Amino acid sequence: MRVLVTGGAGYIGSHTLLELMAQGHEVCVLDNYSNAVPEVLTRVRALSNGAIMDFAGDVRDPAMLDQVMQAFQPEAVIHFAGLKAVGESTEKPLYYYDVNVGGTLALLHAMERAGCKRLIFSSSATVYGEPVYLPYDEAHPTNPTSVYGQSKLMAERILTDWAAAFPDRTAVLLRYFNPVGAHASAQIGEDPKDIPNNLMPFIAQVAVGKRDFLQIFGDDYDTPDGTGQRDYIHVVDLARAHVAAVTYAEGATGARPFNIGTGQSYSVRDMVAAFERACGKPIPTKQAPRRAGDIAAMQADASRAAAELNWAASHDLDDMTASTWAWQSKNPDGYKGA
Ligand code: NAD
Ligand code: UDP
Repeated sequence: MRVLVTGGAGYIGSHTLLELMAQGHEVCVLDNYSNAVPEVLTRVRALSNGAIMDFAGDVRDPAMLDQVMQAFQPEAVIHFAGLKAVGESTEKPLYYYDVNVGGTLALLHAMERAGCKRLIFSSSATVYGEPVYLPYDEAHPTNPTSVYGQSKLMAERILTDWAAAFPDRTAVLLRYFNPVGAHASAQIGEDPKDIPNNLMPFIAQVAVGKRDFLQIFGDDYDTPDGTGQRDYIHVVDLARAHVAAVTYAEGATGARPFNIGTGQSYSVRDMVAAFERACGKPIPTKQAPRRAGDIAAMQADASRAAAELNWAASHDLDDMTASTWAWQSKNPDGYKGA
């Protein structure tokens, strides 16, 4: 299929391009490089030997979207382009709603004009909010605790109404748990612009000597070791879930949410210990207070994705930490070192 990938130069998008091309799909990228650099696509092209059409532009720009649709004529769109920092979303709510909700609306309008009927959406487990029960299944109540989470849930609702209004539209809502890890080549990976918000890139920067220690946010949660637990998923497994979703979208109509996680969760201390195994050196840590808004534990019930997308994660925790370390140690300054 011809698959337009918005945000394709980003962390998850770049890994997904490789998996799509490996399965014979044609890809086109629209990215405004607000959180990526063009070097990413240079590396993806070198790794794949594949042709990638690409456009530098904003997903909220109707004229740009029409230009892309006309040039590439996508049969499906994977919509990664968006903002993802939970803390920043509270400080800049209008910006987050504009990009994450407004961007999705603008994209749907352009798809309507071009007759493109399938959309795969980057949603998040944060749509669930404080767990009523764990593991979360897709029927768990949605009650996001951040502007970021609200923006994802609003976009899900728009997509659900869009798909319900026409008999032949498909919206696949992928609710990601915690993506980590990097491509086996160590050529592409996560490259945060500023101080990393997320655990794994922070640990990786401590390991490579860019930061002195990791702060462990909270040790008094109701978890076995008191630190927060998450369902970490290898980015290559996550990328493959998108390929599975493209196949699913060919044969399905309507909107459907899917949890994309492993079904296992690890604590902050588990992650530090696993990273120490991968890099062969100690990761200094300091105990710090709980981070505002954090949930004690999250875990996916990923059985729907297994049954209906025919997808399951295959990488384990050591694959996640080893690939992160390979990427970080070979690219200590991320893409800036290129
Ligand atoms: P990322 O920032 O690396 O990738 C997003 C890409 O979109 C970047 O290349 C950025 O330049 C581009 N972009 C942003 N705004 C744009 C706009 N207005 N027009 C065009 N391009 C734009 O983030 P990622 O980790 O790859 O996440 C991809 C998607 O998955 C995001 O929508 C994010 O909210 C969602 N998600 C991420 C996580 C995570 O932990 N990484 C978890 C759940 C959901
Ligand atoms: N965390 C931490 N120190 C950090 C970053 C994160 O202790 O510098 C903890 C955080 O409190 C949570 C877990 O690591 O329990 C995962 O956090 P992350 O931000 O990666 O994911 P999210 O909270 O968005 O699921």
